[in-house]
Amino acid sequence: HFGVARRAESADTATATEVSEDEGEQFEFQAEVGRVMDIIINSLYSNKDVFLRELVSNAADACDKKRFLALTESDSPPESMKLRINSDKDARTLTIEDNGVGMLQAELKENLGRIARSGTANFVKELGSGEADVSLIGQFGVGFYSAFLVANKVEVYSKSFRKESDGKTWKWSSTGQSYSIVDASDSALFGDQSGTKIVLHLREEAQEYLDTGKLSDLLKKYSEFITFPIELYNEKV
Ligand code: ADP
Ligand code: MG
Repeated sequence: HFGVARRAESADTATATEVSEDEGEQFEFQAEVGRVMDIIINSLYSNKDVFLRELVSNAADACDKKRFLALTESDSPPESMKLRINSDKDARTLTIEDNGVGMLQAELKENLGRIARSGTANFVKELGSGEADVSLIGQFGVGFYSAFLVANKVEVYSKSFRKESDGKTWKWSSTGQSYSIVDASDSALFGDQSGTKIVLHLREEAQEYLDTGKLSDLLKKYSEFITFPIELYNEKV
């Protein structure tokens, strides 16, 4: 059962528990993340659509951050920024990609392994007591984890715009219990650019999100104020 195997750990650092050649280093989520994840996984009746709004808004934030960084810390203007959403019916994956600021390896751990803001306690208190309205998740600063409303495995490829990135791409991966990070620089996903690509392996009951008609409706409903272009693709028709 979900959550049973989870171990509590210190709030400050993720702990490497195991190193395996295939999967890379394994890390435990901060206990607060575990609590948020439990609520998300167990919120059977909630509106799962919100995951798209949350991931799209994160992608747009990343583009904003890159635009700002390029102005303040770089001599070259950033290339035109955009979001790309791709559904693949054969692979049963939905991918949300941006060429925004990206994340360093340390930022992947910091941002997707622990909860920086203090909103968690409130989230757990307000939503932990039964039929939670998970659509409020963004307000608590934990919107990323809504990916697990629709996916049983989430992979995040990221390459940071910052000089410290040394051009490396990292792959964060989780099925909800713990997460791993491996060097994915060989994938040459981002070329010279920075960015983030989130691959959602959709749950059996969330296959509707492969439908581009549905996705397009949701984007109109939730993401009309996103200022970057959003391209919607269908890998296999
Ligand atoms: P919030 O957006 O309120 O900060 P989230 O849980 O949605 O909370 O996201 C957590 C953090 O993960 C973000 O603040 C950001 O630093 C990082 N992040 C998430 N998605 C992306 C992305 N596509 N590109 C870069 N950073 C991201
Ligand atoms: Mg967010």
